[in-house]
Amino acid sequence: MSIEILTFGCRLNAYESEVMRGHAAALTDTVIVNTCAVTAEAERQARQAIRRLAREKPEARIVVTGCAAQLDPAAWQALPNVTRVLGNEDKLKPESWAPDSGSAVSDIMAARETAPHLVTEFAGRARAFVQVQQGCDHRCTFCIIPFGRGPNRSVPIGAVVTQVRALVAAGFREIVLTGVDIASYGGDLPGTPSLGQLARRLLALVPELPRLRLSSIDPAAIDPDLWRLIADEPRLMPHLHLSLQAASDLILKRMKRRHSRADAAAAIARARALRPGIAIGADLIAGFPTETDALFDETLRFVADTALPYLHVFPYSERPGTPAARMPAVPKPLRRERAARLREAGTRAARDFFASQVGRTISLLTEADLSGHSEHFAPVRLSSVASPGSLLPARVTGATPEGLTADALLADAA
Ligand code: SF4
Repeated sequence: MSIEILTFGCRLNAYESEVMRGHAAALTDTVIVNTCAVTAEAERQARQAIRRLAREKPEARIVVTGCAAQLDPAAWQALPNVTRVLGNEDKLKPESWAPDSGSAVSDIMAARETAPHLVTEFAGRARAFVQVQQGCDHRCTFCIIPFGRGPNRSVPIGAVVTQVRALVAAGFREIVLTGVDIASYGGDLPGTPSLGQLARRLLALVPELPRLRLSSIDPAAIDPDLWRLIADEPRLMPHLHLSLQAASDLILKRMKRRHSRADAAAAIARARALRPGIAIGADLIAGFPTETDALFDETLRFVADTALPYLHVFPYSERPGTPAARMPAVPKPLRRERAARLREAGTRAARDFFASQVGRTISLLTEADLSGHSEHFAPVRLSSVASPGSLLPARVTGATPEGLTADALLADAA
């Protein structure tokens, strides 16, 4: 049995799983469980997966990594068949995966990050995620990530270019820049290059890269270079995903977010003015402590008024040791109910957005033989088979609640 990896959580974890896959390729009978600590549910799912593995593959050696492992190594070490626990920095060290490398919890204490291994495969995906930044210097009151991933650290532009070139040479046509707080990119590098400057340099130095996409970004921290790219760079996809979390100023203040409702509205309006038709999504937390019906309605109205088609909505989840976990809580059923209402608003906006695409010619990146995503990140169902990872022009023939239907205009155009 070759190396098997179960990845939970974010795109950064997905990228790091590919780095580990490269480092651990020589290991057999090993399963890596790369955990996430953003919600209690994410941790529960990883524990459940480990118990199932121990039952179904008793011969497998389970190595647990990721944010949840970083935050509470002993708890994960105690689960059945877990032979090692590696923290977020140690998991990226090639020597951590040497067949004879040693014991468990002590690894985390001595870790120091090494240059990431060049990823050229991405577990059955058509687009590849590339880490540009790690960690976070902010302290949003609900968030455990800075405690699991440390301070903001950026990958130098040269290393990002090298990684992207390797992925494009391996056949990837779309790259998603990812990290924990990508808007903080470069703050720790000589000359403090911004995320926009990184993206512009990358597109200039890798002209063979057709599509660049950004992962979630702080609405108050989009830099001038990035605004210019949004306006005039066709290879930067017309799709922004904002780390909004809420749209009530009082709740944003209690979350210790750096943007106000007005800042978020201004960023959305500016993006739509600079790049007409741009698709905008957002991360939202429903039922943050102290959120009254009236405060929730502010967020719900904002989402409806701004018509954001792609919403990632999470019911608030207490994280141990965070300030919000000590605030007066909203009952869990109410959190779930509010999350459902936000998702409904998102579904309505998505339906309208998909309907607006009918009749248009889109650029489609195929994933499986009959599906893919457009440049606006709309899910697309093709009428005819195309090989995964192809970049095709396609005519949108219809819209469904889940996305678009389309006819490929050219078979395997690129
Ligand atoms: S910006 Fe806030 S939510 Fe995002 S990782 Fe940092 S502390 Fe967490």
